Amino acid sequence: MALSLNQGIELEVLLPALTKKFLITNKFLIYFLTNHGPFPCYLHRFQKLGSPLCACGLVGDADHYVFRCPLTTEFHLKEPSDEHRKSWFKNLRHNGQAQSKLIQAYKISNGICDRLTQGLIVYQFVVFVRFLVLVFTSEKGF
Ligand SMILES: [Zn+2]
Repeated sequence: MALSLNQGIELEVLLPALTKKFLITNKFLIYFLTNHGPFPCYLHRFQKLGSPLCACGLVGDADHYVFRCPLTTEFHLKEPSDEHRKSWFKNLRHNGQAQSKLIQAYKISNGICDRLTQGLIVYQFVVFVRFLVLVFTSEKGF
């Protein structure tokens, strides 16, 4: 369960503890907090991808890559229970090794999104070519 803007109450609880400098210099933690980042789920919301699913077949949101995706297993963090989530995040802010894992997991999710986006472009190109073939063949009376 991500600390997302959909869970505004949790985010409001955490934000006073974060300085502006922290927020500006830690885009990966912002990805985690907001669920806005290189995630199929996020890109799907804005119709940049046809599906919210990761390449592994599960919903690709911020938590997915940090805790569950089989494609980022080596960078997984231990998922806290809901009741310990706030203290878990406070600890994450001061744990360079855990932040490094989070960054690596999100770099992989970024690559996955790039490949999925390219797949969509290839699909759109194939549809366009088929359309041209249909137009061409109908004009020629085939
Ligand atoms: Zn996945």
